[in-house]
Amino acid sequence: MLEINGLCAGYGASDVLHNVSIAVERGSFHALIGANGAGKSTTMKALSGLLRPVRGSITFEGEDISRLPAARVVSRGLALVPEGRRVFGPMSVSENLQMGAFTALFPRRKGDLSERLEFVLATFPRLKERLQQIAGTLSGGEQQMLAIGRALMSGPRFLALDEPSMGLAPVIVEQVFAALKQLQRDGLTILVSEQNASITLAHADFGHVMESGVIALSGQASALRDDDRVREAYLGM
Ligand code: ATP
Repeated sequence: MLEINGLCAGYGASDVLHNVSIAVERGSFHALIGANGAGKSTTMKALSGLLRPVRGSITFEGEDISRLPAARVVSRGLALVPEGRRVFGPMSVSENLQMGAFTALFPRRKGDLSERLEFVLATFPRLKERLQQIAGTLSGGEQQMLAIGRALMSGPRFLALDEPSMGLAPVIVEQVFAALKQLQRDGLTILVSEQNASITLAHADFGHVMESGVIALSGQASALRDDDRVREAYLGM
């Protein structure tokens, strides 16, 4: 469904990603793990159209999206939940969700949007109780649910999440990953970039280990969990 091939990207003169290749099959749950500064966020930005690659291709459902602007990538069906959640703090939960549907408004299909809203609120009942609450006053976990809900409002088939566990208590992280697993069962394809390798590999089908801008290791998540190198460097064993 998604193929990243020989991706090189960076900021100005500094190259961060070197020849990154990742293939994600439809319906699967992939993890991109790595330490601070390994290049995970840079990869997520490149695939969602926020950063233009220097070389390489990103093919989504057979089409090269590597040079499309972010809004066009979203309307093709690939949505990003950004690092740090980035909810619109002064706006209500309901308004944040409507913002997520912005690219879906043209052509306007009201029916689709109410169905999507229903789906989001069924996935995250906490948001249903708080539709009128100002987003900036939500707890960290609720804001993460809102950020995921906002992405879902664009009607994606592919969901990319950058560090969804950041700053959340372990019990909330569990809830977020359980929701992602449910979204996978609902038919979404998922790629999560995370420093928290342990929880991510416990939920993903497939994992990729990124070190200094290259993919050092790829394999079944269960095999990576048993790999001595991964256990030592990323699972603290
Ligand atoms: P973290 O988990 O800390 O977010 P990461 O694996 O996501 O780490 P990136 O954010 O992709 O790593 O950063 C990779 C490298 O790119 C780092 O050396 C970082 O300093 C650099 N970098 C990231 N954003 C920028 C930017 N906007 N301008 C210049 N350099 C950047």
